[in-house]
Amino acid sequence: MSEPSVAEQVAQNLTDVRARIDATARAAGRAPEAVRLVAVSKRQPEARIDAALAAGQRVFGEIRVQEAEAHWRARREAVPDLELHMIGPLQTNKVKEAVRLFDVIETVDRPKLAQNLAAEMERTGRRLPCFIEVNVGEEPQKAGVWPEEADALVRRCRDELDLPLAGLMCIPPFGEEPAPYFALLRTIAERNGLIELSMGMSDDYEVAIGLGANVVRVGTAIFGERESG
Ligand SMILES: *Cc1c(COP(=O)(O)O)cnc(C)c1O
Repeated sequence: MSEPSVAEQVAQNLTDVRARIDATARAAGRAPEAVRLVAVSKRQPEARIDAALAAGQRVFGEIRVQEAEAHWRARREAVPDLELHMIGPLQTNKVKEAVRLFDVIETVDRPKLAQNLAAEMERTGRRLPCFIEVNVGEEPQKAGVWPEEADALVRRCRDELDLPLAGLMCIPPFGEEPAPYFALLRTIAERNGLIELSMGMSDDYEVAIGLGANVVRVGTAIFGERESG
């Protein structure tokens, strides 16, 4: 038998990941449709992105505004039901471009950014669902609001800035058992009346779904290893 093509491989990976999401959700007593799969296309070759689109995937995540423009500005025209999530650190000077390009912002992590996003959404009328990113492992080098400051940022976004808040997002510390961190994110969401949890990546999305994830962000398990850089 010949080697599968890139397109066949990506399509197969997508089928496998979706099947595992379905099975895990059902096992946890949750509806499979309640879990959205964000295909993380950062640093992936064009052919693999096109393969995912051809296989019917419509929700994608990117971590840099400029790279997202390169990947998606033209494709967007051809794919009207595309849903693009910003999942990387967002600089305030990129807010204008981000609000124009993305459909969901998952990485609100400080008042100044929230304020700029709210102002740009007000100006353009594009009210994008937002997630607050929580630095659940309290890692100094990582983005995200610290857990004990999360409630205050939620209040600020919701009550003062009228930002459309959907939920919370986190990236647990690399190489650690993720479950306690997912549980912490859920606790913070529940006490703030927030519904959506964006948590879980290629290695741990099943654990995350078991703990209530509504959004999982999966890159390598769909596309294969990323290009360096
Ligand atoms: C890269 C990235 C992912 C996907 O990681 P994989 O391990 O390739 O699934 C998910 N979330 C964020 C924020 C990322 O930067």
